[in-house]
Formats: sequence, structure tokens, C-alpha cells
Amino acid sequence: MKVLIIEDEKDLAEIIKEGLEKQTFAVDLCFDGEEGLFMAETYAYDAVVLDIMLPVMDGLTLLKKLRAKKITVPVLMLTARGTMADKVKGLDTGADDYLVKPFEFPELISRLKAIIRRNRRESSSFISVDDLTIDMNARSVKRNNREIRLSSKEYNILLHLALNRGRVISRSRLAEHIYDIDFDLDSNIIDVYINYLRNKIDKGNSRKLIHTVRGAGYMIKGDR
Ligand code: CA
Repeated sequence: MKVLIIEDEKDLAEIIKEGLEKQTFAVDLCFDGEEGLFMAETYAYDAVVLDIMLPVMDGLTLLKKLRAKKITVPVLMLTARGTMADKVKGLDTGADDYLVKPFEFPELISRLKAIIRRNRRESSSFISVDDLTIDMNARSVKRNNREIRLSSKEYNILLHLALNRGRVISRSRLAEHIYDIDFDLDSNIIDVYINYLRNKIDKGNSRKLIHTVRGAGYMIKGDR
């Protein structure tokens, strides 16, 4: 999952980035509102962590512009100001949730995961494709009740395919999704990971879930 952090306190931004990366999120950082708006409009993120007090353009203005362009990425607002008026304003502007500094990191994580889930209209943390089940909270994967151990990159690719089940996802979108954008995007690496995933998930099973769509990318789908 990929998150954009727009926060001008660089130390705090770096701490959040490191913490999220430990949770295997891919993270981009921006330190002012204008750059943040550009990034949020240009790249696909699973969520945005947005500070209110920012240079060049404040967070509420940024959010207003983002929503005016029908970009519905879930936004977690972050701010030192904890008054009720600010919370209401943030939520009215289109924020999905609101966290007051200073905050505990686990709370940031759980709220971030919650808004990502809500955005996907998944009421639980489980996603199923046929007899494959992904538990997003536990980051565990089972097929036919057998636990499958995946590396974090394999997991992220599988999760992204599963969240878009039945839809073709291009190699470059998959690559973009699991790496920071400054990573030199070699989407051939995706073929390698897909091979690993096939060996772990589809090998020896008569019903294949991971499908190659020639010239387009990959798709996960099942009968159920
Ligand atoms: Ca700030």
C-alpha cells in the first residue's frame, strides 16, 4: 500500500515515513502544500496523511482542491490544533479522519488502515478470492485454509491484485504501487514476483487464480 505524507516538520515526516515503511507501506514525502497537491493529483495513493499548517498552501485548501477534482483518496488530517472547530472544518472539507499531535504511532497506523478499508467499502479486514483469503490486519494469506508465507513485496502485489479482483492491473501500476516513485521502475521485476506468487498460490491447484492478460498485465479472479 502506498501513502503520501504532506508534512512540513521534516523530523516528524521522516519518523512517520520510517514507521510506515516498517509496516511495509511505500511512502512518498512532501514538505509543502503545493507540491503535496501535485503529488496527490498525479500519483495513485491508498491514503494521504495531511498536515493543516503547511507552507505555500495550507492543508484545508489543498484538500478542498483535491475533492473539487473528484480525487477521493482517503485523507487523514494531522494537526497540532485540536479544537472542535478545526476538526469539524477538516471533516466538512472532505477529510476521512483527524488526528491531533502529539499522537501515538500505533493510533496513526490503525486509523490509516481503517480509512483505507472504509474507502474500499470492506467492512472487515478480510478479502477473499475463491478459496484464497487475505487478512489485512494480520497480513496473513491462506488458500484452502493452508497458510501461505509471502515476502512483503509478494504480499503487496497480491493484495493490490485482490483489492482490484477481476480487473487487469498493468505491470507498471503494480511496480508503482510497491516501490517509492524515485525507484527506477523496472516493471520486469513484477514478472519475477508474479512467478513466485504463482508457485506459492496456484501451483498444484487445478483452479488458477492469477491470470496473465497478454499485453496488458495481471489479474486475480476466481469462481467465487
Ligand atoms: Ca505543519
